[in-house]
Amino acid sequence: MTTAVIIVAAGKGMRAGGELPKQYQMLADRPVLAHTVSRFANMDQIVVVIGETDFDLFDMHVTPHLTNKVELVSGGATRSASVMAGLSVVNAQNVLIHDGARPLVQSGVIKDVTDALKTNQAAAPAVAVTDSMWMGQAGQVYDIVNRENTYSAQTPQGFHTQIIRQAYDALTTAATDDVSVARAAGIKVAITQGHNDNLKITLPEDFARAERILKDTNMDVRVGNGYDVHAFCEGDHVILCGLKIPHTAALLGHSDADVAMHAATDAIYGALADGDIGQHFPPSDPQWKGAASDIFLRHAAKLAKSRGFTLTHVDCTIICEMPKIGPHAASMKTHMAELLEISADRVSIKATTSEKLGFTGRGEGIAAQATATLVKS
Ligand code: MG
Repeated sequence: MTTAVIIVAAGKGMRAGGELPKQYQMLADRPVLAHTVSRFANMDQIVVVIGETDFDLFDMHVTPHLTNKVELVSGGATRSASVMAGLSVVNAQNVLIHDGARPLVQSGVIKDVTDALKTNQAAAPAVAVTDSMWMGQAGQVYDIVNRENTYSAQTPQGFHTQIIRQAYDALTTAATDDVSVARAAGIKVAITQGHNDNLKITLPEDFARAERILKDTNMDVRVGNGYDVHAFCEGDHVILCGLKIPHTAALLGHSDADVAMHAATDAIYGALADGDIGQHFPPSDPQWKGAASDIFLRHAAKLAKSRGFTLTHVDCTIICEMPKIGPHAASMKTHMAELLEISADRVSIKATTSEKLGFTGRGEGIAAQATATLVKS
């Protein structure tokens, strides 16, 4: 089954303020209409109906942001005329008809409509009305609407192409949306689940709300993990999370062999998908010999920051029989938080033995693993 979308954007949309029609105004990084088109990237055919004098406007503002092939159609004087112009070029079996001013439509909303068309001739999203609804005039309530069974209609409204074409051909009065056209032709319309964030940009303040929603839904969350091992050698202390801890052995390594800090550092590089400590600080380079490992950790944290990420959490587990980590865990946590420039309640330092099993169990060395979470919004 092939599916086309008709994005109706021929209106002047001047209630939203600004010098351009609302569909050509910027919403975050792109014009409204570029967002809307991108939401339908997986359709078989994308038809955009624009005002007959808006072709230059579209080319200048929207075309540079498009990653999909779109067919531009000149709209008519009414919404119905614009939809009919769009329908005339549709060659898919199903068609979704969508408001150009609903740039945030969720993929789940689109999918529910297309899925419903497998068993229905028409389907459209809506959300049940939960607020009380009044009839009002001249600033006065004159009636209460019974909100039972009332829905607030959204788009895309989906149809078998042949069916909606016939309905439009038979249309004799003006219609506010495609469901009303279908209903006038006696077509049953299934209700699918809409979304409260599928807003239609109408007023100036809608831009700010849409930008907030975009920011929330575009949140980039990364989780990285790190793992490291260092063997014991002769000595009287180890360095763990930057703290000197007395022990009957030391850890062998090119730097200060701070196995826990290395695991945490690699977790941050992992979240950034940017290699590991060895790549950023090659052991073959003599300048890192005996280096304090906080250089590595601070480098990773700075790199995350420079790419716009906030480090929200680091969790590190140190695996050894001895030395005992518990008595030092609180100071390790504070010290790591200071180095990472985050609050201590975002740093976790834990320890476990391995029940005397394996190399850590035999006391041949210390292993550590860590996860780090980065968030960009
Ligand atoms: Mg290491």
